[in-house]
Amino acid sequence: NKQVVLRDYVVGFPKESDMNTVEGSITLKVPEGSNDVLLKNLYLSCDPYMRMLMSKIDQEGFGSYTPDSPLSGYGVSKVVESGHPDYKKGDLVWGITKWEEFSLVPAAQIRTKIENTDVPLSYYTGILGMPGMTAYAGFFELGSPKKGENVFVSAASGAVGQLVGQFAKLTGCYVVGSAGSKEKVDLLKNKFGFDEAFNYKEESDLNGTLKRYFPEGIDIYFENVGGKTLDAVLPNMRLHGRIPVCGMVSQYNLIEPEGVTNLTNLIFKQIRMEGFIVSKFYHLYSNFLEFVLPHIREGKVVYVEDIVEGLENGPAALVGLYTGRNVGKQVVVVARD
Ligand code: NDP
Repeated sequence: NKQVVLRDYVVGFPKESDMNTVEGSITLKVPEGSNDVLLKNLYLSCDPYMRMLMSKIDQEGFGSYTPDSPLSGYGVSKVVESGHPDYKKGDLVWGITKWEEFSLVPAAQIRTKIENTDVPLSYYTGILGMPGMTAYAGFFELGSPKKGENVFVSAASGAVGQLVGQFAKLTGCYVVGSAGSKEKVDLLKNKFGFDEAFNYKEESDLNGTLKRYFPEGIDIYFENVGGKTLDAVLPNMRLHGRIPVCGMVSQYNLIEPEGVTNLTNLIFKQIRMEGFIVSKFYHLYSNFLEFVLPHIREGKVVYVEDIVEGLENGPAALVGLYTGRNVGKQVVVVARD
């Protein structure tokens, strides 16, 4: 049972060498009387929050990985044996599994059985899984968008951002995205239908850049990166603007997080800035599927994935999230069926 384990707790930027691919052992059997489920893992999801679990200090209340044990994370798996009545051999499921070929997990870690298989299975790590729900809940529930409003999205070509932009276009908003390379900027404009996009690494005055794209200001800023970007956005927000705070990926590896200086804008412009965690919105999952599946089938919402083959290539793919190596949703294939 090949596994990817954490070598030791991480300080600063994570490296591929912070993880090891090892041969572990597992009894391929559900223990008598337990309601655990034995899974064959197919697709694993690389997600930025996984960095927080690599720290010794449990700042975020998520817990930490244990050195020499496999990483855990979202994935798509096939049920090999089940001690739980809701699942049976051969079912496809998505939820929290481990970075190994086969995993024995408590049934409660499975988010749901996969019923719709006319779309790529890997989509359940992205558009039809946790990142999709994040974009949906963050944009519609917290952003309260209205037709004609101005929307700015950071990390806009990623797993979450590419969907926020497309949902905003479906709502009739004007949408601008920022991303870290020319290839990503081209995707935003030519594939995802953003009205405008720019490479934030090439802009020396982000505040001025935002003024150029939003002469009348921003109604909704979908926050994925934090730091300097947030600071430049705040003076460009409009009265009663909304900032769903989804993530701050530019801060996760810093030993000293950057300060944000423009927060007084929140007061005078009466901005609603609100953090959220996707797991609090999973009760909306069936509504979300009803909304998004027809759009996917009709080609009105598209999804770009960055697929890496082989569990042993998972560590490089995971740390690549923090340098922007991934183009679209980063997925690791363990097995295809
Ligand atoms: P992505 O697929 O967007 O991958 C991460 C991207 O972040 C990279 O490709 C890179 O893109 C960008 N990035 C990395 N470092 C920096 C930096 N220093 N400054 C600016 N951008 C950087 O990830 P996701 O779409 O999965 O996640 C996006 C955000 O949403 C993250 O902050 C994540 O933590 C958060 N999230 C929050 C959830 C919640 O429940 N609140 C759930 C899921 C995600 P580029 O090349 O453009 O710089």
